[in-house]
Amino acid sequence: MGVRPSSIGRLTKQNSLPQEQLFDTHAESSLDFEIVRQASLQKYTRPFLILDTAIVREKARRFRAAMPRVRPHYAVKANPERRVLKALLQEGCSFEIASTAELDLLLSLGVKPAEVFYSNPVKSRQAITYAAAKGVEWFVIDSVDELRRVHEIKADAKTYLRLATPNIGSDWPLSGKFGAGAGDTREIIQTSAKIGADLAGVTFHAGSQCRNPENWRVGIEKARTTFDAMAKAGLEPRMLDIGGGFPVRHVKPIPSIEVIGEVVNEALKAFPPEVQVVAEPGRYLVSDAGYFVCRVLGTATRAGKRWMHWDAGLFGGVIETTEGLKYKVRTDRSGPDIPWHVAGPTCDSVDVILRDEPLPSDLQEGDFVYLRNAGAYTTAYASEFNGFPLPEVRIFESKR
Ligand SMILES: *Cc1c(COP(=O)(O)O)cnc(C)c1O
Repeated sequence: MGVRPSSIGRLTKQNSLPQEQLFDTHAESSLDFEIVRQASLQKYTRPFLILDTAIVREKARRFRAAMPRVRPHYAVKANPERRVLKALLQEGCSFEIASTAELDLLLSLGVKPAEVFYSNPVKSRQAITYAAAKGVEWFVIDSVDELRRVHEIKADAKTYLRLATPNIGSDWPLSGKFGAGAGDTREIIQTSAKIGADLAGVTFHAGSQCRNPENWRVGIEKARTTFDAMAKAGLEPRMLDIGGGFPVRHVKPIPSIEVIGEVVNEALKAFPPEVQVVAEPGRYLVSDAGYFVCRVLGTATRAGKRWMHWDAGLFGGVIETTEGLKYKVRTDRSGPDIPWHVAGPTCDSVDVILRDEPLPSDLQEGDFVYLRNAGAYTTAYASEFNGFPLPEVRIFESKR
C-alpha cells in the first residue's frame, strides 16, 4: 500500500465518488484452484473443506496493515479448527468467543484469557462463572439484565456495551437481534454508574459480509457519542471494539480491507491514542483460504425444472446461500449455463441451496462442485442430520 488513496472516508461521506470506485480496488487472494482439483482427484469419501493456513496468515497481516491501530480478535465461530486458531495466534491475533467450548479450545492452545473477548450478549450464569474463573475479564452486554448478571458473578468484570447500528448493505445482517438502542443505552449507563459496574467499552457489528464501509463510520461515531455519555456518568470508557463483518470476494464486488481501513482510520481520530481498539473479524481471515468441495449425487427433472442434488446441503455446511450469499461455483463442465435448482442430500424440504442458479447444462452424477472462498461458516455449521456425514477438513500450510 504505497499510495494512500485520497481520503475515502471524506469522499464517501459527501458521496462525491461513484460507489463503484470503492469496490474491487485491490487484488483479493484465493486458494489455487489446481491444488483443490488435485486434492479432489486423490481421494474423495465425503464433502470436504481444503484450507491453506498460509492464506489465513496473509489475511491477518493485511488486516493489521490496513488498520494499524486495530488489533484483530478472530471470531472463533467462523472456523474453529485448531490449526487455523494456532496460525492466527502466531500472527498476533487474539480471539472473540460465544461459548464455554470455544473458551476451552483457546485455553488448550495457550491463549491468554485476559485478552479473550466474550462477545455473546446473553451468556448463561454457568458460562460467565466458568469464564471468570478461567481468567476472562471482558464481557459484552446489551441489556440491563445482562449487565446485572455479569456484575453479580464478577463485580470487577470489564463490560462493553453492544450498540445497535445500521447493517445496511450487509449480506448477512445481524442487527435485528442484538444491540442496545438509544433508550437502552441510557439505562445501561445509568445502571452501571449506580451499581459500580466497570462499563469499560463500546462495540457494534456492521453486519456480516458488509459491503458498505459507511456502517463502520456510523458505528464509530455512535461509539464516540456513547463514550461521552459514559464519561459524563462518571464511567471510564477506554476500549472500542469495531466488531466483525469485513467482507471477502465471492461474485459481487466488495470494498477492499484497505478502503474500509481508510474509513475506519479516519473515524478513529476522534478517539485519543490511549483508547484500546479491537475488531472481531471472522469471515475476512478465513474465507479466502479454503474451497468447499462436494459432488453431484443425482439429478432430476420435476415439472420441467432441472434439479441437481449435492452430497452437501444446508445441513452439511452450505447454508449461507439461504440468506443470499452467492459463492463462485466452479465445475469441470463447460456446457452452456441453464437455470438449476440445487438441493442438499437430506429429505428436509428446507434443504434447497440455490434456485435458478445458472450452471452448466451437462453437469451430472458424480461431478465435483467447488465453492470458492468457503473457509468460513461452512464446516462450522455442519451437522449429521438425516445420517449424512460431517464434511472432512483438510488443512495444510503452503509456502506462499
Ligand atoms: C459472528 C460475529 C463476529 C464475526 O463476524 P464476521 O462477519 O465473520 O466478521 C464478530 N463478532 C461477533 C459478536 C459475532 O457474533
